[in-house]
Amino acid sequence: MRARTAAERVACPVCGTASVRVHSRYVRRLADSAFRGCPALIDLRVRRFRCAQQDCAQATFAEQVDGLTFRHGRRGAGMQAVLDRVAVMAAGRAGSHLGQVLAAKVSRSTLLRLIRRLKGPERVTPRVLGVDEFAPRKGHIGAETGFCTGQRNR
Ligand SMILES: [Zn+2]
Repeated sequence: MRARTAAERVACPVCGTASVRVHSRYVRRLADSAFRGCPALIDLRVRRFRCAQQDCAQATFAEQVDGLTFRHGRRGAGMQAVLDRVAVMAAGRAGSHLGQVLAAKVSRSTLLRLIRRLKGPERVTPRVLGVDEFAPRKGHIGAETGFCTGQRNR
C-alpha cells in the first residue's frame, strides 16, 4: 500500500511551533496489521521539516501520523499494539510462533525487547510507614511484644 501525508503545517515535537518549511522527503516502510492473513506493508511518503523557531534545539524533525507512526518505529501503531500484547502473553519462542500465525513476523529477541520497553505499574512512594513495613520477612513477629524481631517464631 502506498500513502502520503497531506497536512500543510506540522508542529515541532520540541517547541510546538507549526512549520511549513520542508527540509526533505522520504519513504518509510511500515509493517502493519495483516489483512486477511496477508502481511500488510505501507510505503508512507513523509516529510522532514525545519523548525520555524530560530533558537529551538530541534533544527529539523520528521512528521508523524497520529494513530499510524511513532518516532523511529518500523511498524504501524496497530501492529505494534498487537506485538506488545503478544510479547506480554507469550514472550520468546512461543510468542514468535504466535506472531507467524498472525502474519506478524517477529523474532523472540524482539519480543523480549518489547517487554523491556513497556512501562510497568506505577509505583507510589508511601507517605507514612508502619511497623509492618520493617518486617524483614512477612509473618515473622516477636512473641512477647508483637513487634518484628527479625527472628523466626518457634
Ligand atoms: Zn522547534
